Amino acid sequence: MNPNSKRVLVVGGGITGLTLAYRLQEKFFNSKENAEIILVESTPRIGGIIETEQKDGFIFEKGPDSFFNSKPNVFSLCEDLQIENRIIGTNPDYRRSFILQGENLIPVPKGFYLMSPIAIGPFFGSPLISVFGKIRMMLDLVLPRRNEYEDESLYDFVVRRFGYEAFEKIAQPMIGGIYSADPKELSLKATMPQFLELEEKYRSVILGLRKTMIRKDDDTDETSNTSGARYGLFASFDKGMEVLTDSIKDKFSSVDLRLNSEVTSIAKKQEGWTVEINGNEILNVDTVCLTAINPKISQLIQNVSPKFSSFFNKLDFGSLATINFVFNKEQIKHPLDGMGFVVPDIEDRNILACSFSSVKFPNRSPEGDLLLRVFIKESEWNNFSEKKNSSIIERVMKELRMILKIHGEPKHTDVNFYLKSTPQYKVGHLERIEGLEKSVSELSGLFFAGKGYRGVGISDCVASADIVSEKVYEFLNAPSI
Ligand SMILES: Cc1cc2nc3c(=O)[nH]c(=O)nc-3n(C[C@H](O)[C@H](O)[C@H](O)COP(=O)(O)OP(=O)(O)OC[C@H]3O[C@@H](n4cnc5c(N)ncnc54)[C@H](O)[C@@H]3O)c2cc1C
Repeated sequence: MNPNSKRVLVVGGGITGLTLAYRLQEKFFNSKENAEIILVESTPRIGGIIETEQKDGFIFEKGPDSFFNSKPNVFSLCEDLQIENRIIGTNPDYRRSFILQGENLIPVPKGFYLMSPIAIGPFFGSPLISVFGKIRMMLDLVLPRRNEYEDESLYDFVVRRFGYEAFEKIAQPMIGGIYSADPKELSLKATMPQFLELEEKYRSVILGLRKTMIRKDDDTDETSNTSGARYGLFASFDKGMEVLTDSIKDKFSSVDLRLNSEVTSIAKKQEGWTVEINGNEILNVDTVCLTAINPKISQLIQNVSPKFSSFFNKLDFGSLATINFVFNKEQIKHPLDGMGFVVPDIEDRNILACSFSSVKFPNRSPEGDLLLRVFIKESEWNNFSEKKNSSIIERVMKELRMILKIHGEPKHTDVNFYLKSTPQYKVGHLERIEGLEKSVSELSGLFFAGKGYRGVGISDCVASADIVSEKVYEFLNAPSI
């Protein structure tokens, strides 16, 4: 190893850490500079939450099954990895989703974006909410904009603009489900800034969406087809999401990837950083890029500087579980003529959401079989750390039977737990990040990227890795280093 070369440690082998290490490799390779890039991952595999299993003609997604394609970063990454031809869109024939009401799945009306109608006609014809609820939503067209732009909760925003019925029947299941968090605590600015911007710019959210989202009448335009944009604007890969993480790893030529390597302590030295791996190995590096975030890391990093406390103290993590179910086509009476459904809290069910995976994307299951993927959250009866798979499956099956008119037992099930995996962006999250960034700039050589900060979606994580790779490269090339 050249003694003058720079040493970068990337912590975490999820999509953020992989992208960051790859981008740094590119930058150092292009500039023909010496650098040692070490990527440490505590588990025996790369990918973090992204995990695909291919078995018996099925493609099982355990974590994410798609990425939001409104940001360019994942596409640029795929171009650089030469896998852009492996990106697939959702099935255009069934680009709509449902919301459960009682025992019925009600389609989200055509031209609806997360919490707001864009097309008024289909919305008024929908049985999703009462006539009073619809009129209240339409008040958004005349209500004034809010004067101060302090952060507010998602709940407060929706109730203020669209009324309580719209919140509990539409916004809560469509958005709360994505974040697996209480919308009364979720920061609007950190989770759905686009709605705040619409109010700021156009006063009315509906008017703003109509101005920005209605384009020329083109069947190939996904926004014109958006019934439940949660699905309509998403993309995946021919063989599942792991195509992305595996392709990054395959391009590593000068990244030292170390699996089964958990960071157990981090300390600042006069120059650079000392990091302990698995409690026994010491690494001395110029920069540490933290992409792993969980309660343990949160504790670890608070010890680096008390200034980090206000951010990490307030950061809670939500738990989720997914279950893949395989059935014969004949077992399900419901036509599955959509991408899936979401369940409002007021329905008091165990299921949060369900994707009709083999309808949503092609080649997810063999002919004659159907693959469904259900999300559930932790509850009083269901302590995820106990991992009682059979009772979870039994309870979820009871609901699936009723909702989708299923008879018989599933041919296959597979339960996956994501304990304390999703950071909850509470009101004031972005302000706390700004505070964190200020404290970090005083501690030279420490960088943060990934799901803990400016978006939990895969596109957000890739975007944050892109930005932080620039900052790390700049830092390492600063004259003092
Ligand atoms: C069930 C589920 C479904 C989702 N579905 C979608 C979806 O469809 N679309 C979408 O855009 N987003 C989805 N998300 C969100 C998205 O998948 C994640 O936010 C994103 O993958 C996070 O990537 P990351 O690299 O930041 O973190 P992670 O994937 O969590 O990676 C962090 C890595 O750090 C490692 N690590 C932890 N501690 C240490 C340590 N001390 N030392 C070394 N390594 C450590 C972990 O083992 C892990 O591999 C979903 C999330 C969940 C939980």
